[in-house]
Amino acid sequence: MENLQENLRIDSKQPKEMLAQLKTQIHQQRKSLNGNASPELAAHLKSWENMVHQLQTEMLLEKSAQLSLLYEVSQSINESLEWRRTIQAVMNAVIRITEAERGMLLLLDDEEDLEIEMESTASGEDFTEEDKQFSYSIVKQALERSEPLITTNAQVDPRFEHSESIVAYGLRSVLCAPLIHEGEPQGVVYLDNRAKAGIFSDEDRAMMGAFAEQAASALHKARQHKQTNQALSEKIRELTILQEMARDLNTSLEFDRVMEGSVTWAIAAANARGGAIGTLAEEGIRWAAKEGRVDPEADPSAVSRCIATRKPLLEEKRMVLPLLREDRPVGVLYLVTEDRTFNMDRIEFVLRVADNIAIAVENARLYEALRQANLAKSEFVSLVSHELRTPMTSILGYADILDSDIVGELQTEQREFVSAIQRNISRMKVLVSDLMDISRIETGRLQINPRPIQFSDALDDAMEMVGELIEEKQQILTIDIWDRLPPAYADPDRLTQVLTNLLSNAMKYTPDQGTIAIRVWLPAEEPGFIRCAVADSGIGISPKDQARLFTKFYRADDPDVREQPGTGLGLAITKNLVEMHGGRIWVKSELGEGSTFFFTIPISVPEAGI
Ligand code: ADP
Repeated sequence: MENLQENLRIDSKQPKEMLAQLKTQIHQQRKSLNGNASPELAAHLKSWENMVHQLQTEMLLEKSAQLSLLYEVSQSINESLEWRRTIQAVMNAVIRITEAERGMLLLLDDEEDLEIEMESTASGEDFTEEDKQFSYSIVKQALERSEPLITTNAQVDPRFEHSESIVAYGLRSVLCAPLIHEGEPQGVVYLDNRAKAGIFSDEDRAMMGAFAEQAASALHKARQHKQTNQALSEKIRELTILQEMARDLNTSLEFDRVMEGSVTWAIAAANARGGAIGTLAEEGIRWAAKEGRVDPEADPSAVSRCIATRKPLLEEKRMVLPLLREDRPVGVLYLVTEDRTFNMDRIEFVLRVADNIAIAVENARLYEALRQANLAKSEFVSLVSHELRTPMTSILGYADILDSDIVGELQTEQREFVSAIQRNISRMKVLVSDLMDISRIETGRLQINPRPIQFSDALDDAMEMVGELIEEKQQILTIDIWDRLPPAYADPDRLTQVLTNLLSNAMKYTPDQGTIAIRVWLPAEEPGFIRCAVADSGIGISPKDQARLFTKFYRADDPDVREQPGTGLGLAITKNLVEMHGGRIWVKSELGEGSTFFFTIPISVPEAGI
């Protein structure tokens, strides 16, 4: 017995190997005794042999049960995009089952370099710098052969005889399974134990092979998903930029603003160092805006080639893009970069930005042309009105002389004619002065000279103009002005003009014997302002007309309106005058019931120095 125990020396510390060694040695002992053993010893040996065999089977069963469970788990990774968690779990489990010391998931990056994507240690301790050392020759071989590879002891494995890293890092048991999807290597799962040899079996290798297949396919899906997500978020980012850019460039139609804004957006989109935008004028390209270090004038041939061919010129450090509207060049975008090269992956986006800039440039140009034309028209109207005033004053002067009987008494019919001339010239005078006002407003030449004045004084002046006509129509007029109203801060002539317009409208659009009520007070809800309401019991204004009343030349379609003299300029001028004073104007009206026009004028505040 003692002899036997002495002979049964177990070198290995691994249970699996311990059992194997034990089994062989028992077997050898039995054979060496060669039937000479006592029946008692033979029975002992036999039963030990059986025990060892049973233990081996149980161990194997336990391990294969664990492995098949693992395999089932690994299969589920293909369905889930949570591949990381699953791979990590499988790696940890394999480490536990196989007594590996550490595990790594190494992925090939775009440059075909291996990057550690995931790691794990049997001890649960942190992965140290030293732990990152793996055998590149083993990984390379596994990838090249496209099959899992094990070595029970790399130190003596003839396949890796010349690998310095194996010796240097003291590698022994290694299991390396390549991740290959549709022939494309993606990386490896690498498990090893530096201290112990022979911890991996062929069974482990087969299991890791099956697992690696699942993992590779899951990884591929995850990468695809990531790529789609990236592409999607890149698109969303680009669309957001385009949207913001359109909003920004549309906030102003002012030509220079649009040009400067466009260059800034283009530089940002192309990640350029400098940029310039040129518009096509009759005399050639006009560089409307520049930003950063850029000198497009020094590069005329590239620019004219781009315009002539209508094709973008895309180089590593220079981009010249035509700005096209319906295939017609309206300008050119010149972008440069210095230290780096343009990212050609983004070129599609840059071209879309250029398209949007072309629209903005075109709009700004059209607007500018329109503004110029409008200005010319306003100046013409102003000139003509001015020229009309002199003959009109003269006609009215002669009519007044005739009417005064200085040059002989008029017959009844003649007097009627003269009075018709006077009425019509007065109407023309209003029209001409309205035209002059509106053109002054449009060209920004109308000025007001506000000062502290009594509101009632302006109202008296307005009444002088329209009072008589109100009386003629036998309309009932009421005036309600607050006592002790503070002075208004207004231009007296212009406030009179506002009141005259509103009162004459109330008079015009209210039938005979209707009522007109003027109220002036200090509204509690709007401190600092005098409010005036001119209410009438006239024809009223439909909601549709109310929305457009204050635009120039607008008159309601109503025949009751059209039979009254008018140009549709009064309210447009009135609104401008009120707003120039810092006040506001609005209307409340119901068709057939009457209208009330409200407006506010600031009060004069002595402390504020006005
Ligand atoms: P005009 O009186 O010369 O037509 P305005 O600019 O003063 O021009 O007024 C524009 C239009 O607003 C009028 O043509 C009329 O349709 C409507 N309107 C203005 N005031 C009144 C009012 N008090 N009652 C009804 N309609 C009015």
